[in-house]
Amino acid sequence: MTYSVIVIGAGSTGAATAHDLALRGFRVTVVERGEVASGTSGRNHCLLHSGGRYAMRDPESARECIEENMILRRIMPEALELNDGLFVALDEQDLSFKERFLAACEECGIPAREIPVKQALAMEPHLNPNILAAVQVPDGVFEPFRFCLSFLATAKQNGATVLTYTEVVDFVFQGRTVAGVRVRDRRTGEERVIGGDIVINAAGPWSGKIAAMAGVDVPVIPTAGVMISVGRRWNRMVLNRLNMPGDGDIIVPQRRTAIIGTTSWRVEDPDFIPIPEDHVRLLLDRAERFIPGYTRGGIRGIFAVARPLVGRRGVAADGRELSRTFECFDHAVDGVEGLVTITGGKMTTARAMAEKAVDVVCAKLGLEIPCRTREVPLLSYRAFFAG
Ligand SMILES: Cc1cc2nc3c(=O)[nH]c(=O)nc-3n(C[C@H](O)[C@H](O)[C@H](O)COP(=O)(O)OP(=O)(O)OC[C@H]3O[C@@H](n4cnc5c(N)ncnc54)[C@H](O)[C@@H]3O)c2cc1C
Repeated sequence: MTYSVIVIGAGSTGAATAHDLALRGFRVTVVERGEVASGTSGRNHCLLHSGGRYAMRDPESARECIEENMILRRIMPEALELNDGLFVALDEQDLSFKERFLAACEECGIPAREIPVKQALAMEPHLNPNILAAVQVPDGVFEPFRFCLSFLATAKQNGATVLTYTEVVDFVFQGRTVAGVRVRDRRTGEERVIGGDIVINAAGPWSGKIAAMAGVDVPVIPTAGVMISVGRRWNRMVLNRLNMPGDGDIIVPQRRTAIIGTTSWRVEDPDFIPIPEDHVRLLLDRAERFIPGYTRGGIRGIFAVARPLVGRRGVAADGRELSRTFECFDHAVDGVEGLVTITGGKMTTARAMAEKAVDVVCAKLGLEIPCRTREVPLLSYRAFFAG
């Protein structure tokens, strides 16, 4: 294999893409302006989605989630906590949603089963004792740095180079074909050019900015969400409200903390997200309904980060209406050869996103190399630091 590919971004999408490329034999260079997972991937809710959350409104994304959830369990067990999730009815309106929810899960292939309230309370003793119903699903929790580092460690073992603190500041063109990127080392300020046959833009909520540098458009809509973590792990499992996805309807346990989330609003600049005070109040109110006394653990952090959602024509873009599925753009159709963007999706679906992007690259180059990332187990995240 003589083709070389540059991947912009070392979040979950870029990391999984580097792994897939390296496994198919490409020469790979990842350029990341910060540390690995310093964008959205390092600061999200960390829910390994079963797809239950999207089964009603976004079945395409729900199916992607359950399929990838099962694959990730096989290939990166070290990065996951397989603790399941409970969808709980907090009031009559939630309760009336239950049958439709169970039917939607079945339709999407998500194993969901109702369990007695008494059993749910025995499993989660801090949960509001007045819940009316509980449904168990195969949700889980991932550790976001291990998640990205496992992909990158395996990519490195297969020959990839990972350059952190290396920011793409421009594209290098030969005619209308992208021939590489100009990068700035953020520690020294030095600039240099890295050449490549193909560049993959995996810059998450920044992918619109990156595409604009090459003079093309990507309909990515940075959509922020606030989360609040407390210094006590109140729940063993992921707790979701049994209803359509909304604000403050999920508490994810992460190590020794519990994180309530989230809200959803469109932002112009993913690097500057002021946290609205009313979002914080709303989340704390809603957390109390799940777990009375939630804040008694002491607030550890209030943080916000932007989702890279893909816009659709004619759909109001406040965030909740937009699908959580992903898209791959070959910018040859915009008149720029050699540049591909992969964006949207979830961290849970990063492997599938990578598969799609690398399939597009192979098709462009006339190569038939099958994807093997479904089967190949990833190295430990620790291997990333070993040389
Ligand atoms: C509030 C919230 C909660 C979420 N919760 C979950 C969840 O529980 N489960 C789940 O599966 N998903 C969740 N998501 C979605 C998930 O976090 C994202 O889909 C995923 O992290 C996107 O990964 P990415 O690699 O595409 O983007 P990013 O992780 O943002 O990676 C892009 C990288 O590109 C780099 N970059 C930008 N510009 C440049 C440049 N010029 N040069 C070089 N590098 C550059 C950035 O530094 C960044 O590291 C959540 C999202 C939000 C906002």
